[in-house]
Amino acid sequence: MARVHNYYAGPAALPLEVLEEARAELLEFRGSGVSVMETSHRSQEYDDLHNETIGLFKELMGLGDNFKVMLLQGGASLQFAMVPMNLLGEGKSADYILTGSWGKKAIKEARLFGAVRVAATTEKDGVFRRIPRQQELALDPGAVYCHITSNNTIFGTQWRQFPDTGSVPLAADMSSDILSRKVDPAPFGIIYAGAQKNLGPSGVTVVAIRDDVLAKCRKDTTTMLNYHTHVDKNSLFNTPPCLAIYILHKVLGWTKAQGGVESLEKINDAKGELIYGAIDGSNGFYNCPVEKDSRSYMNVVFRLPTEELEKKFVAQGLAAGFLGLKGHRSVGGIRVSMYNANGLDSIKDVVGFMKDFASQNS
Ligand SMILES: *Cc1c(COP(=O)(O)O)cnc(C)c1O
Repeated sequence: MARVHNYYAGPAALPLEVLEEARAELLEFRGSGVSVMETSHRSQEYDDLHNETIGLFKELMGLGDNFKVMLLQGGASLQFAMVPMNLLGEGKSADYILTGSWGKKAIKEARLFGAVRVAATTEKDGVFRRIPRQQELALDPGAVYCHITSNNTIFGTQWRQFPDTGSVPLAADMSSDILSRKVDPAPFGIIYAGAQKNLGPSGVTVVAIRDDVLAKCRKDTTTMLNYHTHVDKNSLFNTPPCLAIYILHKVLGWTKAQGGVESLEKINDAKGELIYGAIDGSNGFYNCPVEKDSRSYMNVVFRLPTEELEKKFVAQGLAAGFLGLKGHRSVGGIRVSMYNANGLDSIKDVVGFMKDFASQNS
């Protein structure tokens, strides 16, 4: 067996320990005599796992009792619709700060349910190279919420400091940087993330909602898309994605064992400094299009002098055991996605490859 370094943007690398544990437990889950895929979601064994998962997530995120956590399906993409479906309506308006492709999709859904204001956008010539500054935001103090994308997986930008929206709660798509750094939950009313980047496999989406925001949610939306349904039934209204939640539970346990978010943030900062240092120190061979104070510490995007060299870089990288270096099809170039499961050593190795490649091709 030869496992390679994995830089896919999502689904993405999982900690090896998590996979090994899951393999060891595949045939029997918690002494139940059956696998987790064959266990009733009403069994004691599953119920414990389910509640532990929610508890671990709240603990790692530092969420108080005023937050409810849901384990849903449909991906972050369904949350683009569920957030406005539950919170917008006649006479209500939401602000959206547009920093990339995922935000565009969120806005498209929200417009189906109520008034949407784009409080700022950093789009220029079809691309996004930065996060807006506070003074660029045209915020509506009467907005029901203000939506942001905390990390732009495709364009490689990240809110290094969250916007100040006063008393308007932030609704954040944190799919690609959740649990990568310490975040003060206070300004957030809704946080959601598809699991397949930093939390586990695809198939489960974690949604945290603050009590005062939940209280504003409509009661008249269709049952399965209504936040009240899932909060009232502790995400057990219908059959949850048990296997995905089982892996999520293991990833959260692993995250805690690493020393939690604070420890992982230190490693993530070191990874970012290493790779951006290599890009900036390459005498222009590698070029990151993102403005320095907006750079993502999860998805690092950069270009080479020609598209031919980029193709060669991806192919030689793959041959050397570095998987998934190709940039998103909409922007091209190279992307190194380095979520929590990619340790510092993995980034040292890819940076070593980058240095060799630059010296052989410049
Ligand atoms: C991957 C991603 C999505 C899409 O998630 P799905 O679970 O596939 O719907 C949405 N937002 C961001 C920021 C992402 O990185």
